[in-house]
Amino acid sequence: MREGSALSNRMLFKLFALPSVLLVLAFVGLHFFGSFLPDLFSGSAVFEGLADGSRAAALWIGAGLLLASLVWFIVCFYRLWRWSQGNSDCCFTCGGIVDQKHGRYGPYKHCLACGKNEKI
Ligand SMILES: [Zn+2]
Repeated sequence: MREGSALSNRMLFKLFALPSVLLVLAFVGLHFFGSFLPDLFSGSAVFEGLADGSRAAALWIGAGLLLASLVWFIVCFYRLWRWSQGNSDCCFTCGGIVDQKHGRYGPYKHCLACGKNEKI
């Protein structure tokens, strides 16, 4: 890699941004549905059922998001590993990991490290 760690940090950040957000959402969701909403609804009899439902759903929502983020982390580590072995496509400019995307002008590769696009 030409420009060293700044580019590679940026690439890693972009690669792991989404699973990290999911991981945070899992804990936020667990807290939100597990204690914030039930507390909010606990005062009124009308919403008592909703509070119970929210408490019951909290664990499932939290577990679901946690699982999704774990799977995503594994996929990202797999991509990183394949890239480090030289088995995946890489950027024509800096050699970073590329995403395959479909744009208005057809499929292209978007570099996660330097941000350049290349037509396929
Ligand atoms: Zn690049």
